[in-house]
Amino acid sequence: MNFKDQTGSILTIDLNIMAKNFAYLKKRLSPKTICSAVVKSNAYGLGLEQVVGRLLKEGCNSFFVAMMDEAIKVRNLLKKSCVNADIYLLNGLNKGIEKDIIKFGVIPVLNCIAEIEQWSSYCKTNEKKFKAIINFDTGMSRLGLDSYEITKLQNNPKLIENIDIDYLMSHLACADDREQVKNKEQKFLFDEIRSNFISKRASLSNSAGIFLGKEYHYDMVRPGAAIYGLQPLKKEVNEIEQVINLKGKILQTFIVDSSATVGYGATFRANRKTRIATVALGYGDGYFRTLGNQGKGYIGKQPVPVIGRISMDLVTFDVTDVKEEDSRRGDMIELIGPHYTVEQLAADAGTIGYEILTNLGGRYFRNYVG
Ligand SMILES: *Cc1c(COP(=O)(O)O)cnc(C)c1O
Repeated sequence: MNFKDQTGSILTIDLNIMAKNFAYLKKRLSPKTICSAVVKSNAYGLGLEQVVGRLLKEGCNSFFVAMMDEAIKVRNLLKKSCVNADIYLLNGLNKGIEKDIIKFGVIPVLNCIAEIEQWSSYCKTNEKKFKAIINFDTGMSRLGLDSYEITKLQNNPKLIENIDIDYLMSHLACADDREQVKNKEQKFLFDEIRSNFISKRASLSNSAGIFLGKEYHYDMVRPGAAIYGLQPLKKEVNEIEQVINLKGKILQTFIVDSSATVGYGATFRANRKTRIATVALGYGDGYFRTLGNQGKGYIGKQPVPVIGRISMDLVTFDVTDVKEEDSRRGDMIELIGPHYTVEQLAADAGTIGYEILTNLGGRYFRNYVG
């Protein structure tokens, strides 16, 4: 018996819509550009196994992860499906990890000269040119060869002569805003670096970068967010469909008189006779505490505001304006869905959709469609 099914909230993850989003991104690319999928952090919280399983069926055969244990999980999923695909490890080379990288068929992203030297020496010892991506920092100041190291590499091409360079890579800082000059600056710098490595394949764009135009696509793009239903460009019409839907079950309803307070800290005080619905979900499930007195849910088309603080396992809504027969114990409140998107919830929580998705809880029932 699955008790999660009964106790509370239901997260629906529509893999058909996810597949549609992936196809939509692919359609924007020229046929020679590979559309990989970034599946780090449990596929942005949506479930690595289900997401990778479905994307394989959609013809995706390049996956990016951040950590080695994620890479191994993807490799095991591929084995189970008896297919091969490229797995790229974004967070670089830990010391002594080379053997396992080869064992699990992972391609490392090399982020500094030290990692290049380490990989190169492993290749030399084994008398084989193993694949790697070289990552250049073109303006995020976060990960990748910095400008000093780029010069060092240009002056000493021997550093990479033992390595099979699969791609040259960089990452955009402001791709979600078309107007940012930073996009063009980073692309210019990337092209300048690439000119020293004639005939090597290249990869620059995340989800949003795909929408900046064909000249940002190169040989492979690396979308994550847009596959999972997040809006790629902040200020533009959203052409990506929402993948998830979260419903919370009403555990109890209350009627309180004007002046009653709600929740920890008594931060909400009723100014009318108020009907309250308590839902089985809280910050322990990734329903951000910053949504207290800020967020909302929907019953049908009727918004119902969050009142009071978010508790660990509970949240309270003002359902006074909803018909009683629609808001009784056992009824569901839409917490993320067509009326209230991940982005809207994120804005009310003071964060971004990525953080909402990657914090989706493990306690409620997950219903996969497709
Ligand atoms: C996470 C990540 C991506 C995916 O970015 P989205 O905005 O989710 O599409 C692409 N490239 C790198 C290097 C990343 O770290």
